[in-house]
Amino acid sequence: MLAVLGSLSLRQWESSAELLFREQARDMASMAAEKVSMVLLRTEDDILGRIQAILGGSDGGPGTLGQFLAEAPLIRRLYLFDRRGRLLFPSASTAEDRGLFAGLLAEIPQSFWERGGRRHLIWGDQVVLAAVFKTRGGAPALAALALDLDALRREIFEPTLGRLEGPTVLAVIDHRDRAVYSREPVDQAERVITTPLGAELPAWRVALYQPRGASPRQAVRRQTTIFMVAFGLLLVVIVAGLVATYRLVQRETEMARLKADFVANVSHDLKTPLSLIRMFGETLEMGRVPDERTRREYYRVITRESERLSRLIDNVLDFSRIEGGRRLYDIVPTAVEPLVRDTLEAFSYPLSQQGFKVEVAVPPDLPDVPMDAEAVSQALANLVDNAIKYSAERKSLRVDARIRDDHLALSVADEGIGIPPEEQGRVFEKFYRAGRSEIQGRRGSGVGLALVRHIAEAHGGRVTVESRPGEGSRFTLWLPLASRA
Ligand code: ADP
Repeated sequence: MLAVLGSLSLRQWESSAELLFREQARDMASMAAEKVSMVLLRTEDDILGRIQAILGGSDGGPGTLGQFLAEAPLIRRLYLFDRRGRLLFPSASTAEDRGLFAGLLAEIPQSFWERGGRRHLIWGDQVVLAAVFKTRGGAPALAALALDLDALRREIFEPTLGRLEGPTVLAVIDHRDRAVYSREPVDQAERVITTPLGAELPAWRVALYQPRGASPRQAVRRQTTIFMVAFGLLLVVIVAGLVATYRLVQRETEMARLKADFVANVSHDLKTPLSLIRMFGETLEMGRVPDERTRREYYRVITRESERLSRLIDNVLDFSRIEGGRRLYDIVPTAVEPLVRDTLEAFSYPLSQQGFKVEVAVPPDLPDVPMDAEAVSQALANLVDNAIKYSAERKSLRVDARIRDDHLALSVADEGIGIPPEEQGRVFEKFYRAGRSEIQGRRGSGVGLALVRHIAEAHGGRVTVESRPGEGSRFTLWLPLASRA
């Protein structure tokens, strides 16, 4: 329906453009013809006036006429005849001339000799202007002026038609339908309209051509195509804008949900160690623990839980520092082995209590690596914490350090629940928690791995994960040996 309406209105548009174009072409052609006629008439008046002055004057001899001819390039030839058809000027004539005279004189009726005036004739290939003059003696003389085509082009057509601007091409067509003058070549163009040039150039016409591919229909088509393309582009831009806005809104909604989860998770994570500390602290305070061994055990729980608490708070604070771009790193060459040992030390209690099989492989000859020891230890702690948190029946932890491709590769591997392949790319995003962690009752804030990635990148390195659901995960921290700083 829309297509039919569109094509109908396109047709209508095309035909009205064509009509308008033809009207304008007609106006332009007749204006050009009038202009040429007017200029030609004025030039003829001038020439004839001067010939009359010469013939009526005292020095109307052949010398003066010859001189006048030399100054009037528009006149190719001038002949003067007396009433009986005898040639008065020039003194000698060619055979071609004589042929011309005979025909010419036969075309001049008797009345013309008496009434005078001027006549325009086409004789052979020539345009001839004939006029009767009174000579000094009072006898009439007939002047025949053959106009020069080159001079016509140069002095009449070019100044009058050459300046008319427009998408079309103007040309002058002679009585044999040849283009004797045109602003541009017209052999490839289509003739739109012709208008007679008037009595001055009988059977000559002004013609208007339209260059190939410039018809109003084609112009309308071109404009429609441009419009359609522009409209299409606009639609694409609008759709792209809508899609982008939709995505943005979706992302923002997701982020808001994740942030709400984050607050809930962090609060819960803070509460658990706090209540443990409080419970054991109160029990100790009330003196209800009789034996020394249990008491020491309670103290250890309080220390461990406060360590956990400060790790958690450190994580959140560092995360907010990173978000605000305020986290600074002090990167200096650091020995790897003590760093790994100290970090694992903090986890010795939960590891042994939960029965983890722990393997640490750090070669003693590792070179010092440029790093911010505190940050790398924090990253390692996060990885170890996750390995403990996300282990199920098979409790195993392996930490190893080695040199690979100009990097220190620090790996933490477990045999825990693993991460599905489609989620492996996302676990490093802030607040992101793989779907199943909630179900399995493991609490967390979702910022641990985001922090690890940030720390790795701040060192010019990266963090990678290899994991299979149900088999375990292996996170590797890659730190370049050559410091960027
Ligand atoms: P969280 O506080 O939830 O542990 P993290 O940023 O440390 O946040 O980890 C993001 C998610 O990646 C976790 O919710 C968990 O689903 C997954 N993940 C991290 N480490 C492990 C691991 N060792 N084994 C299995 N899944 C893991």
